[in-house]
Amino acid sequence: MDITAAVARGADAPLAFETVTLEDPRADEVLVRIVATGVCHTDLVTKSVFPAELPIVLGHEGSGIVEQVGSAVTDVRPGDRVLLTYSSCGDCSRCTSGLPSYCENFVILNTSGGRADFTSPLSIDGTRVMGAFFGQSSFATHALVSRRNVVVVDRDTDLVTYAPFGCGVQTGAGAVANVMRPRPGDSVVIFGVGGVGMSALLAARALDVENVVAVDLSAERLAVAKELGASTVIDGAAEDVVAQVHAATGGGATFALDTTALNPVIATALQALAPMGTLVLVGLGEPTMDLEIGHLTGNGKAVRGCIEGSCDPQEFIPQLIAWHRAGKFPIEKVIRTYPFWEINQAVHDAESGSTIKPVLVL
Ligand SMILES: [Zn+2]
Ligand SMILES: [Zn+2]
Repeated sequence: MDITAAVARGADAPLAFETVTLEDPRADEVLVRIVATGVCHTDLVTKSVFPAELPIVLGHEGSGIVEQVGSAVTDVRPGDRVLLTYSSCGDCSRCTSGLPSYCENFVILNTSGGRADFTSPLSIDGTRVMGAFFGQSSFATHALVSRRNVVVVDRDTDLVTYAPFGCGVQTGAGAVANVMRPRPGDSVVIFGVGGVGMSALLAARALDVENVVAVDLSAERLAVAKELGASTVIDGAAEDVVAQVHAATGGGATFALDTTALNPVIATALQALAPMGTLVLVGLGEPTMDLEIGHLTGNGKAVRGCIEGSCDPQEFIPQLIAWHRAGKFPIEKVIRTYPFWEINQAVHDAESGSTIKPVLVL
C-alpha cells in the first residue's frame, strides 16, 4: 500500500513528506495506522550525528490502531489500540529471561534500517528506503511492525499522551523503577530534565520518593520540574552544584541519573552521590567517560548503564498507564502536541529545548 512518510534524506535537510510503498504484513507482522508519535532524542541523533544509511523513515514512539495482522498473529486483532515500542527477537537468552531491552539482536532489529534479514518494508518507485527503525518507523501514516513491538491497550486509552511511553518515557521511568528501585526515604538527583529526565522524576514521585533533585541549565525546565514534584531544583551552570546536592540530600544522593552523556556532568553526578550511592547512565553521546576511581573504591559508589529503562514493555507500559490513571504520573504536563505536518517544527523545538516532549498527532 502507499503511505505518506516523513523521509530523512540528509543530516541537515528537513524531513520531506513523500509517498512511500509499504509491504503487506508477513506472517508475524502487524499493520498499524499511526495516530500519534513522539519525537525522541534518538531520532535527532540518528538524523544528524550518527547518520544512518539514507533515505530513512525515523520515528519510534508510535501509537495507533491495528488495520491488518499476519497469519501467525493470533492475539492482536484489527481495531485493537496499540502502543509501539522497541523490537526484540523473543528467542535469545536475554529475551527469554525477561530482559528484552538487552536482546542479543537489539542493534539489528532496531537501528539497522531493516528487519532481522536486512530487508526493509519501505520503498519508493522500487528503490529501497530504510525502515523498521526501532522495528516501526512511525513518522508515517502507517507502520509495519512485529508482534513484539506492540503493546495492546484498552479501547479508551489516550493514544496521544501515551505515545512516547514506548521509548523516552519508559527509558527515564524504568531507570528509576527497575534499576534504582528507590525506597521512599532515598534521594534521587536527576541531571538533565528533558523528556527522559522528567519521566524519571515522575517515576520517583510515583514511588513516593520525596527528596528528588533536578539539575538543568534551563530555568523553564526547572520550573516544570518543581511543578512536577522536585523538592529542590539547581541551575546546572552554578559553581557549587555538588555542594547544593549534598545540602539538599543530607550528604549526597542515594541515586543519581545522568541523561546528558556529557563527561563533566557525569563527573559531577558521581560526586553528588552519597557513599554507596549508584549513578545510572542512560544518555547517548560521548563514547567514553572519565571516572575518578577514588569515588568508586573509596566510597563504594557504583555506576550502571541501562537501555529502555531495563523494562519489558509488555509489563512496564501497563504499569505506567495505571500510574497515570491514578493521577501519580502526570506526563501530559511535559508534552506539547503538533500536527504531523509540522514535524520539522517539532524537531526544531526538541533540538532547541523549547519543547520538552513533542508528540505529533496524525
Ligand atoms: Zn532477543
Ligand atoms: Zn527513543
